[in-house]
Amino acid sequence: MSAQTENFDAEYDIVVIGGGGSGKSAALAAAQAGLGVALLEKQPQTGGSSVFAEGQAAFESSEQKARADTGGPFPTREQAYRRYLEYSHYRANPEVVRMFVDNSAETIDQLRSLGVEYNLVGIYALDQPDELASFHRPEGLGARCQELLAGAIATAGVDVFTSTRVEGLVTDGGAVVGVTARDSDGNSLRVGAKAVIIATGGFVDNPAMIERYAQVGRNARHISPLAPLANTGDGINMALAIGADTDNIGVVQAGPGVRGKAPTSQSAAAGMHPWLWVNHTGRRFTSEDEGLSVANLGTVFARQPGADSFAIIDSDMVDHLVQDGSDVALGDFVPYHGKMTHLVDELEADVEAGIAWKAETIEGLAVAAGFDPAVLAATVGRYNAACADGYDPEFFKPVKYLRPVRRPPFYIVNQSAHATCTCTGLRVSGRLEVLDADWKPIPGLYAVGNDASGLYGDTYTLDVPGSTNGFAHTSGRVAARHAVAAIQGAQNERRAPA
Ligand SMILES: Cc1cc2nc3c(=O)[nH]c(=O)nc-3n(C[C@H](O)[C@H](O)[C@H](O)COP(=O)(O)OP(=O)(O)OC[C@H]3O[C@@H](n4cnc5c(N)ncnc54)[C@H](O)[C@@H]3O)c2cc1C
Repeated sequence: MSAQTENFDAEYDIVVIGGGGSGKSAALAAAQAGLGVALLEKQPQTGGSSVFAEGQAAFESSEQKARADTGGPFPTREQAYRRYLEYSHYRANPEVVRMFVDNSAETIDQLRSLGVEYNLVGIYALDQPDELASFHRPEGLGARCQELLAGAIATAGVDVFTSTRVEGLVTDGGAVVGVTARDSDGNSLRVGAKAVIIATGGFVDNPAMIERYAQVGRNARHISPLAPLANTGDGINMALAIGADTDNIGVVQAGPGVRGKAPTSQSAAAGMHPWLWVNHTGRRFTSEDEGLSVANLGTVFARQPGADSFAIIDSDMVDHLVQDGSDVALGDFVPYHGKMTHLVDELEADVEAGIAWKAETIEGLAVAAGFDPAVLAATVGRYNAACADGYDPEFFKPVKYLRPVRRPPFYIVNQSAHATCTCTGLRVSGRLEVLDADWKPIPGLYAVGNDASGLYGDTYTLDVPGSTNGFAHTSGRVAARHAVAAIQGAQNERRAPA
């Protein structure tokens, strides 16, 4: 035993760092294989960002097969495999993609065996073109999955330590043999393990890492987390500190949001409508129907000055959203045709809070929001002319989204790029082993969920909806399976006669 490895406070077969969907799936699989497992979670409760996830991607699942006559066509594993590689311009890692598409259906069965019931299998954003029908939406959404997984790991005998932040990896002769951690009282702990699985959920809550790595250029610093948590890239950084490599690091799953507001906000949903958007210059910058693809929208917003977009909404639009409901859908956050009954109250509160603006004229709106009145009035004039002509000469927006801005009072809603997660980080093999700069596995170290790269190139594949959450659960399970096999193989080798 080296100085590094002596004096462990506790020893387990496997230590899992992080208790979201990927970490709990890993811990469950390892404990069910009969190994001693500790799960260390820095928050007072497990769940992480996985509690917000609305659904999981899977291919050729039993749920899809059961709906084959009514809900399809459902994607085959081969179609999904090709989609990930083509969408990423072949920057995805075929080994990792194959691992995911081959094992995703089993994840659905495993979650079902814990009590998860799926109430929808299909696409996610109804207006988004070319989506694969991969989205499996559980009753009670991600929160229910995490609750059932938490119960299952307790039953399986996993020792769960909450409010315990892992700070580093302990190595011996190049192999990972444990972790250092700190509990909520500030006590430091050293926990030994034959394998460590990193499941810390990426770095969406670490502005410095976002600025350094996010693949959206200088504006990365303006990206806000959609649901701020504690995913600060700890697992990625501790692996980098012992020589791990990255792969396509910095893919951000970004979409629209209003700073400081929940994803269910109706003023944010109104702003998301593909009508009239301008950036800080007071001019349009895109065909607003790009907003129907959340993956593209994150990139489009992130490229604007300050990563900001300003939606101009007139009172006809407000009445339409209140009386007829939303023209677009975004999973459970923005229901298709859902009537926005709180919209007016919300807009007025936003104006009061200084995050939206209201006026009786476009020039007055410009002054209130800090735009050049002449420029904004010209933009609205050109836009209304395009609506009257039924043709958008600037950005070729489909005619059905050309709704004029006519009736006061007018509002401006300030949207910006918000990230649900980062979904690439460490280079891993198809077995989820963390690789070093020579692409050799670091013995005893695995990475899963948002900490592991492989499924994406430079952006999230929203047209395979549920990818990150499906990947989280599947990669956790598969990593544990390989870690268990490696540990049991090593034990068998030791037992074998000389
Ligand atoms: C609002 C919202 C909606 C989403 N919807 C979807 C969706 O519908 N479909 C989809 O595919 N994805 C969705 N996502 C993305 C989601 O992040 C992923 O789907 C996935 O569930 C992430 O799983 P994970 O296990 O990698 O990370 P998490 O579930 O975030 O778990 C990481 C855990 O690690 C813990 N941790 C971090 N550092 C340490 C440390 N040093 N020591 C100990 N513990 C640590 C964290 O506290 C956290 O509990 C959504 C995200 C958000 C925010």
